[in-house]
Amino acid sequence: MRWNSVAIRRHSGSLTVICGSMFSGKTEELIRLVRRSMHARKKVQVFKSSLDTRCDTTVIRTHDDTRFNAIAISSAAEMEALLDIGVQVVGIEEVQFLDEAVVDLCMRLADSGVDVFAAGLDQDFRATPFSFMPRLMALADNVMKLHAICKVCGEEASRTQRLVNGKPASWDEPTILIGADESYEARCRKCHIVRNAPTSVPTRRKKRQTPYPANDKVEPASKPRAPAPAMPSDAVETDADLQLTMFADA
Ligand SMILES: [Zn+2]
Repeated sequence: MRWNSVAIRRHSGSLTVICGSMFSGKTEELIRLVRRSMHARKKVQVFKSSLDTRCDTTVIRTHDDTRFNAIAISSAAEMEALLDIGVQVVGIEEVQFLDEAVVDLCMRLADSGVDVFAAGLDQDFRATPFSFMPRLMALADNVMKLHAICKVCGEEASRTQRLVNGKPASWDEPTILIGADESYEARCRKCHIVRNAPTSVPTRRKKRQTPYPANDKVEPASKPRAPAPAMPSDAVETDADLQLTMFADA
């Protein structure tokens, strides 16, 4: 018998993605949500990628050493094979390390009435989207984006800084390094460094003399436009002006 062999479930399932940089509290949040479900006497299973070698493969651990039992898996197919009949809540730790089939599995679980909580990194060390995470987030019912504190300046951090031998890692290094002499810290947009990164986007932004076009001055076409407030001559006034400004700047 398979996990979905119970034909009729009354509860409408859901998919919640808990994402953010390293040290943003994703695991704490996952454990909190799973514990709530256990208090509600729901049938819960928690899985973790066996690629996460931070601790015992059958335990998920937060950075402040809270531990929670989990089943180690290396693929979505393995996870599906281990799902219990009548499972009501499924937690997944380090979901970004699994294969993309986990997106489809999460959707099928949610469609079958299971509440799925999937925690994972939304960006890699280059601050680019991590593999299938954008798809998982787009298909989710709820997305919780958590923030850490920047190790350098103390601002809100949304990025993961990879350091190899104490120096910022290079853009062309593999996304997942196992067993390398490396460390990670949470950093804000300003303090995050990637050596040899393509510079197209940051350079264009730096060229601007005025702040990035203020979105609050560009209103949806359907909405009647409020009388324009007094603005400096180079400010954006209309959608057409905005486009011209952007092309001129490109
Ligand atoms: Zn910072």
